[in-house]
Amino acid sequence: LFSAVPAAPPDPILSITAAFRADPSPKKVNLGVGAYRTDDGLPYVLPIVRQYERHFANDHSLNHEYLPQDGLTHFTVHSARLMFGKHSAPLNDNRVVTVQALSGTGALRIGFAFIATFLGQRLVYVPNPTWSNHRNVVPHAGLPPTRTYRYFDAATCAVDIDGLLADLKAAVPGSIVIFHGCAHNPTGADPSREQWKQILQVVKEAALVPFFDNAYQGFASGDLDTDAWSTRLFADSGIEMFVAQSYAKNMGMYGERVGALNVVLSSSSSVDIVRGQLKRLIRATYSSPPLHGARIAAAIMSDEHAFRSWQTELRTMSERIRNMRTRLRDCLVANGAPGNWDHIVKQIGMFSFTGLNAEQVRFIRSKYHVYMTLNGRISMAGLTEATVQYVADAICDAVKS
Ligand code: PMP
Repeated sequence: LFSAVPAAPPDPILSITAAFRADPSPKKVNLGVGAYRTDDGLPYVLPIVRQYERHFANDHSLNHEYLPQDGLTHFTVHSARLMFGKHSAPLNDNRVVTVQALSGTGALRIGFAFIATFLGQRLVYVPNPTWSNHRNVVPHAGLPPTRTYRYFDAATCAVDIDGLLADLKAAVPGSIVIFHGCAHNPTGADPSREQWKQILQVVKEAALVPFFDNAYQGFASGDLDTDAWSTRLFADSGIEMFVAQSYAKNMGMYGERVGALNVVLSSSSSVDIVRGQLKRLIRATYSSPPLHGARIAAAIMSDEHAFRSWQTELRTMSERIRNMRTRLRDCLVANGAPGNWDHIVKQIGMFSFTGLNAEQVRFIRSKYHVYMTLNGRISMAGLTEATVQYVADAICDAVKS
């Protein structure tokens, strides 16, 4: 029965963690996976999350009943507010449908399943490069394989805005375009606000449908509103669009799978229909989402004091990452590593796109036991004061060899 099943190709990101775990070297450093680590290299539970976990554990009036298919309303209402802002036109017009999802990936998956089922076989354009899972999720949801638009200029280590605009202008009208709302993964290069306005103009002229993937709100800059700016620009412009949200990074609830899918409509008259069909898709896929993390996220977002404490945590996490950027750049320069390393401090978010090629990445892995994806992406959150010099030495050796 199973002999004809072909082996699955290894996931380019998750396979690194497996290789790292199997490596017995005491010197090993994992810069592969995008999860925050403290300066001691340990996973971090936000104190405000811990506080609500204790609180809920002791509240015996709570239970573990099923949520409805579209999730905890207390959570989805606050999640949409967090994304679109207090003065959001679409929210105030009651033309946003928000459903709880299995973190950002689940939001993308349900969003694309909805598109495949009700909006036809549309093409989906993703930035080149992009988070590798975009290319999995889209065809898995029943759409054609993704196409790419130009995004990154390796020479300047910045967004190739001319290439990007030209490719979107040439895209098939009606296609879906994935945008990283902030902290583009893997490049860490985001369009400027002026460039986002140009992109919006082209998206409108070319009749494209934006799908914002916002996996790092608050985590990228340390400010929740700043990181929502591009998504809000589009939403407030009257355009119809999709937005995926994740609370993996910004609340550190990676494994709890807390997220949301928002569909912004042009009129409130379709809200009930779209919600009904999303619920039906969810019912057939996993029936209903998990309660625990959504309950915590909703509590944090709805209480002023807890919200402020969360904001402080976000600033602390993003500052540690920025500090690691400066430290790594400075160590590389002090080591005399050939080339310019300023892009490391200019990039934003969890990752740095170092510019190392696959051969150099393999060299660093075998000689130094430092793990990163083959495209040279490193998770800045995985660096610590204790490992930054060692990693700089490894990179320096690789680029000099
Ligand atoms: N989109 C992007 C661009 C990401 O980097 C990530 C996390 N690596 C996600 C979505 C989704 O992650 P999760 O499903 O854990 O929320």
